[in-house]
Amino acid sequence: MKPEPCDPVPPGGTIGILGGGQLGRMLALAAARLGLKIHVYSDMCDAPAFDVVENRTCAKYDDQQSLAAFAQSVDAITFEFENVPSATLAMLAREKPTYPGAEALALTQDRLAEKDFITGLTIPTTLYAGAQTLPEARDAIVRTGVPAVLKTRRFGYDGKGQWAITGADDLESIFAKLKGAPAIVERLVDFAFECSLIAVRSRNGAFGAYDCPENIHGEHILRRANVPAPLTRGQSQEAKAIAARIAEALDYVGVLAVEFFVTRDGGLLVNEIAPRVHNSGHWTLEACLVSQFEQHIRAVAGWPLGDTARHSNAVMENLIGAEADDWQRLARQPVALHLYGKNEIRPGRKMGHVTRLSPLSETRDPD
Ligand code: AMP
Repeated sequence: MKPEPCDPVPPGGTIGILGGGQLGRMLALAAARLGLKIHVYSDMCDAPAFDVVENRTCAKYDDQQSLAAFAQSVDAITFEFENVPSATLAMLAREKPTYPGAEALALTQDRLAEKDFITGLTIPTTLYAGAQTLPEARDAIVRTGVPAVLKTRRFGYDGKGQWAITGADDLESIFAKLKGAPAIVERLVDFAFECSLIAVRSRNGAFGAYDCPENIHGEHILRRANVPAPLTRGQSQEAKAIAARIAEALDYVGVLAVEFFVTRDGGLLVNEIAPRVHNSGHWTLEACLVSQFEQHIRAVAGWPLGDTARHSNAVMENLIGAEADDWQRLARQPVALHLYGKNEIRPGRKMGHVTRLSPLSETRDPD
């Protein structure tokens, strides 16, 4: 029987996850702690999440038969990466409670629609404009000014599909790299630092948020998250209020991450929204009673949310590419070592992470 959206999935029930990367793997481990089972659906037959679950489907995301069988076998459905076709999610949602919903997914898959939505909520972002053609791109740059960054509207991650623009001259050759893909031009923000807010909203609208980490990127990939970020109490409250408004407006269920630029004058600009658990929230596994992964499972399963309080400071560092070869040395250190079980090391590939804890300090007050 199809459960009503408000019936919680009881222990022993099964949550279906679309996507089988490290996020799916850590979601599955968190679900196991609550006595819930996981069925992972991935189009990659060596997906890291398959190692830790009993129920797995390896099939394409538009394979209607496999999707129908998957929906039959689970009590609620979620996803762990945002490039799931939103039509697939909409189809599954007709069969079983599916969170976050297809509309939230579709919005966050399109950088322009997402920025228009954020701006519509009167939440500040960097200057931006859509650009489908070269003349539109030239107009967009007039509006944003330079330096700017040209990004594909869809399917970009870890800096893929992004090109810096320092002057109008570079535009033609850079625009050609899009190969006709719709794009957005954004003013490059001269930020003091970047941070993110990991939030969760339940099926009945309860909201929770973790303290913000400061995020340090190298070559567009997250290298390190330091908790707490050097925000004032006012900035932290503002970040939480912004995330709450976004989650409410999307009628969102599950964990979402809001990435911010903190400007040199202390302003918060939203960079983007990730409709899922987030790399900058991995520290919650060790520094909080209830991690972002468990929160997401609780929200999707219709359970009460857990405590988001932090008992420690934390530094989370990604192990990228060959850095994971250092596992023997790291295993001797007082860190929480996570390796994702990926078969092949590739440059830029996230292979694992380590988290170090230190005694709790509160968010800073203004100097
Ligand atoms: P994104 O995929 O949009 O999150 O971009 C990845 C990273 O590139 C961000 O975390 C920033 O470090 C950098 N970046 C992207 N867009 C901008 C921008 N408009 N201004 C400054 N840095 C940016």
